[in-house]
Amino acid sequence: MVEAKIRLYVDHPLAVGQSIPLERDQAHYLFGVMRQGEGAFIALFNSRDGEFLAEVTQAGKRGGTLTCREKSRDLQMPPDLWLLFAPIKKTRTDFIVEKAAEMGAMRICPVSTDFTNSERIRQDRLQAHAVEAAEQCGGTYVPEVADLVKLDRLLADWDPERQIMFCDEALVGAAEVLGAVKGGKWAILIGPEGGFSDAERKRLHALPYAHAVSLGPRILRADTAAVAALTVWQQQLGDWV
Ligand code: SAM
Repeated sequence: MVEAKIRLYVDHPLAVGQSIPLERDQAHYLFGVMRQGEGAFIALFNSRDGEFLAEVTQAGKRGGTLTCREKSRDLQMPPDLWLLFAPIKKTRTDFIVEKAAEMGAMRICPVSTDFTNSERIRQDRLQAHAVEAAEQCGGTYVPEVADLVKLDRLLADWDPERQIMFCDEALVGAAEVLGAVKGGKWAILIGPEGGFSDAERKRLHALPYAHAVSLGPRILRADTAAVAALTVWQQQLGDWV
C-alpha cells in the first residue's frame, strides 16, 4: 500500500473510485504549500467512512480533484466523551480544543459559567483547530465543537445517562478520584480561570450523575486541567487501555 504523508479531512462521502472536488483553500494547501501534483497520494477521512488513499487526478491553482484508490483504515470512533470547558484566553482556548481532539473527545462544548471572562468564541476557528488536530494525530474522526452555551442552560436539559466528571478545584489535594466503571456516556467539566461559583458548585454536587474529582494537590490552569482530566478519564474509563 502506498504511504501518504499528508492527511486531509473532507466533508464528502468516501469510497473506492469516488472523486472528490477540492475546495480552493485545500487546493492551495496541497498544490501551493505542500507542492503536491497529479499522481501524488493523499490520505482522506471524513469522520464517517474511515480513511482512503486518494490520488491527485487533477491539480489547479483554484481547485483540483482527488480519486479514492483504496481504503487504508476503518473509522475509529472515540469514546462517547464530551469536554465541557469555560473559554479562557484565545490561544489557550485553541490549545484546549486541539488537545481534546488529539486525546479522543467526541464533542467539545465551550460553556459560559458565572466567572467566565471570555463571553465570545469563534466556533468556526475552533472547529478548524479540531480538524487540524485530527489530520495531524492520525484520527479518522473530528469532534464537533459546539457553540458557546450557558452551563445552566446545558444542565437544564442534561441527559441523566451522561455522567459528569466535575473537576472541582475546591477539592484540591483531596483524594476524590473517579471511582466509576467503564462504558456509558460521559462529560468532563472544567471551570474558568476564576473557578466555579459557590452556587454552581452546590448545584453540581447535588446532581446524581455528577462525580466531583480532584486533579491533585495543586491548582492547575484551566488548559492544564483539561489535559489532566482527559488523561485520567481515558486511562481509567476510555480507549487508552
Ligand atoms: N481560580 C481558581 C482557584 O484559584 O481556586 C482556579 C480555577 S482553575 C485555574 C480552572 C479549573 O481547572 C477549575 O475550575 C477546575 O475545573 C480545574 N482545576 C484546576 N485545578 C484543579 C484541581 N487541583 N482539582 C480539580 N480541578 C481543578
